[in-house]
Amino acid sequence: MNAVAPPDLAPDTIARHIHAKQVRLLYAQAPLGAVASLLVAPILALVLWEAIPSAVLLSWLTLLEITVLVRLALVIAFQRQPDRDAAIDHWATRYTWACAANGVCWGGCVFLLALSPSLVHQAFIALVLGGVLMGGVLTMTPVLATCVAYALPLTLPPLLWLLLQDDLLRAAMGATGVLYLLLALGTAHRYHQSLTHSLRLALENLGLARSYATAKEQAEASNRQLADQQAALKDSVEALREFYQAISTPRRHASEQIQAMLALGCQRFGLAIGILARIEGERYEVIQVIAPHGEIAEGDVLALGDTYCHDTVHAQSPLSFEHAAADHWCQHPCYLKFRLEAYLGAPVQVGGQPYGTLCFCDFPPRPAPFSTVDRELIQLMARWVGAVIEQDRMALAAQRQQTLLAHASRLNLLGEMASGLAHEINQPITAITLYTETCLARLRSGPVDPDELRETLKKIATQSARTHTIIQHVRQFARQSKPQYLTVRLQDLLDDIDDFLHLEARRHHVHLQQNIAPDLPPVLADPLQIQQVILNLVHNAVDAMGASDGPRVITVHARLDRGVVEIGVRDTGPGVAPDLLNQLLHPFFTTKPDGLGLGLSISQSIVEAHGGRLWATPNQGPGVTFRFTLPVASRANASERTVAALSAD
Ligand code: ADP
Repeated sequence: MNAVAPPDLAPDTIARHIHAKQVRLLYAQAPLGAVASLLVAPILALVLWEAIPSAVLLSWLTLLEITVLVRLALVIAFQRQPDRDAAIDHWATRYTWACAANGVCWGGCVFLLALSPSLVHQAFIALVLGGVLMGGVLTMTPVLATCVAYALPLTLPPLLWLLLQDDLLRAAMGATGVLYLLLALGTAHRYHQSLTHSLRLALENLGLARSYATAKEQAEASNRQLADQQAALKDSVEALREFYQAISTPRRHASEQIQAMLALGCQRFGLAIGILARIEGERYEVIQVIAPHGEIAEGDVLALGDTYCHDTVHAQSPLSFEHAAADHWCQHPCYLKFRLEAYLGAPVQVGGQPYGTLCFCDFPPRPAPFSTVDRELIQLMARWVGAVIEQDRMALAAQRQQTLLAHASRLNLLGEMASGLAHEINQPITAITLYTETCLARLRSGPVDPDELRETLKKIATQSARTHTIIQHVRQFARQSKPQYLTVRLQDLLDDIDDFLHLEARRHHVHLQQNIAPDLPPVLADPLQIQQVILNLVHNAVDAMGASDGPRVITVHARLDRGVVEIGVRDTGPGVAPDLLNQLLHPFFTTKPDGLGLGLSISQSIVEAHGGRLWATPNQGPGVTFRFTLPVASRANASERTVAALSAD
């Protein structure tokens, strides 16, 4: 609508723009009035040619046509001026002066009136002037000053002349002319006002339209921003969901958890290679890796300076680039050596200390830039990996402690059984001594029947083997070994500690019996540790029945219950007061004067490490029963436990 849009809607700005528009309209309508003047003046001259001296007529005509041509020249100059708005007032003034000059020339018709010989000629002149006035005024209404500057010099001299005549008819013509003049000026004024009003409205509408367009643009921009934020939010929710899924899937070993994290990163970031590396000085060691074409493998050692991780390990935030060749990374030794284009890496800390880096990379450039969510996700992953490694270290340390404690407890148990053991070993040694002395006496007393001697020597060998077996069992039981989960039959476990069990039973003249379900499936267990648990329970049961007068029976029983093997040690001792039942398993709880209070809590830790549980229940009759469960050995959990045992190593 308007070539020059208003920059704002301040009142003086609007006024300026309206004025400019009016001047442009003035110039736009000018050719019509000027051309009319150009044509009408010669016609008038032609009509008056006979009546008025030609010199006067020609002079008038020439002057008038010159002013009309000046008006037209100004119009052409204005149209050609590219920057006409800059000097719009100037252009308005010029044209007003040109119109005033033209009006003066038309006002010069007063001489023609005076020289006209007849009323008809004068009426014709008045008619022409009226027409020129109306045409001019109508085309000049956009600028009122131009209108007045044109109309007044044009009309006043002829009107005054007419009014000053002593002739009623001419005076009436003059009066009518004055009326026309007022009417023309009034109409011009009204037109001018309504034009100004509509221009103002148009400008205000334009302002509104511009405000509306700006508001629309802003709304669209915020919509786009909102959509972007929504997409980023959706992306981060999705990333968190994947991350949560990866960390919430139960996996027994840290290495499996880290491998899942590497797989998640490769898939999420669209990069083929994922590496967890440990960095010590300038040594970069690959701890775990996903590399589809074996580009790099676990255990590989590189110089830190040859890896992008050199720049990551001490960085506060993740390092990322999508196309190394496109910026300064193309000078990096890692790029020069391996041509890895895309990289995203974050430092890993373990226990607050720098450990290494978690990074993902690929040979082709990454088409899309890494998002803020990607960078936040890798930071989260790196923190989680650090926590997993720390947890794993702590678990290993705890396991080591547990093994040491269990060993100490076994030694303690052996210490408590020492006198019984000495007695147990003493018996065959005494027998061996007796048999040896008998042999010697026979040999001294003369010839000996070899068969008789052989029999006695066989007895010596048996007793010696018995001693050897007991010592073997003691050494076996006292050895310090790392947990080893094997598929074993419970009966075999019991048979191996049969000596100890009966030794314990004999200590307090207790009758020991076994009730093992015949079809019991093998269990997955560390034999030494489970023997320790059983022996500890039997030892406690014997202790408990030490002063008891009633029946003295200990029953070791086992059955399959809801998919697990349940083993129990039942005694007929005094039992446990109900309020103490919950405390029995607490470390250092003991009622014995020289007790440590660790046997049951260590047994509980052992059973729980096997995936079972240990508890005590009072018997219907006298005494208490301690029970614990063990998982049935299956091919799957057997291999899993073997891995666990190896990783503990
Ligand atoms: P300690 O034998 O050194 O006391 P334990 O942890 O083996 O340590 O046993 C803790 C306590 O549990 C014992 O002191 C005893 O009071 C109680 N207890 C264990 N077994 C029995 C049982 N069969 N009958 C009664 N009390 C028992």
